[in-house]
Amino acid sequence: CGIVGYVGSDDAAEFLIEGLRRLEYRGYDSAGVAVVCDDDIAVTRSVGRIQSLVDRLGTPPAGSLGLGHTRWATHGPATEENAHPHVGGDGDVVLVHNGVIENYQILKDGLIEKGYEFHSATDSEVIAHLVAEGLRNTPVVEDQPHSRYVTAVQWAIAQLRGTYGLAIIFRDKPGFMIAARFGSPLVIGVGRGEYFIASDASPLAGRTDRIVYLADHQLAVLTADGFSVLHRDSGKVRVNIQPFEADS
Ligand code: GLU
Repeated sequence: CGIVGYVGSDDAAEFLIEGLRRLEYRGYDSAGVAVVCDDDIAVTRSVGRIQSLVDRLGTPPAGSLGLGHTRWATHGPATEENAHPHVGGDGDVVLVHNGVIENYQILKDGLIEKGYEFHSATDSEVIAHLVAEGLRNTPVVEDQPHSRYVTAVQWAIAQLRGTYGLAIIFRDKPGFMIAARFGSPLVIGVGRGEYFIASDASPLAGRTDRIVYLADHQLAVLTADGFSVLHRDSGKVRVNIQPFEADS
């Protein structure tokens, strides 16, 4: 339902929580955040209001990269296990998903056959394991540190039938995030030394005055040093940065 993401040098959790609050108006049944800290990714999820997620978090994990989600369940009831973020592989991949994956059951069957363990009843979890499987099958290229992760995501989303807005982070690649969309909106907030992802512009108000609307079949690769936008099947596309004026 709602997606937020942060990469920069500030406290990620603060933006994520505030961003999720600003997305509350869309409605949701559960919520969660993931923050990269100390070579690991701390995932916290909760059924109900954002406030119960905040209570669950206590002192939020300190880290400057993370993502968050408000879920409006389509596949699987509103439980903590089904709340996003979802984890793929052995914790290699953490992602949030908006939308519906129509062919998730056949993908899930194939992944279970390969040994992947599922922890939720959602359609979304298949994407996390698919990206993990994509990473497993993609060799490391020394002088192109990002390409392996992009290749894995491209491979994964090429198999999806349905709609998705995705924000994805990787345990072995701190400081790095990939966003992708088809049929579910995503915007990038362009800051200075920091970048934001959101499913609509409302979380970006007061944080940036420049915005990029991702188009269907586009992927964005973000670090604190910059971002680029790629077409799912071809190379880089020219980015159209638009002014963003929020009334609040
Ligand atoms: N289909 C996914 C689920 O049921 C995502 C729903 C949403 O967009 O919040 O978990």
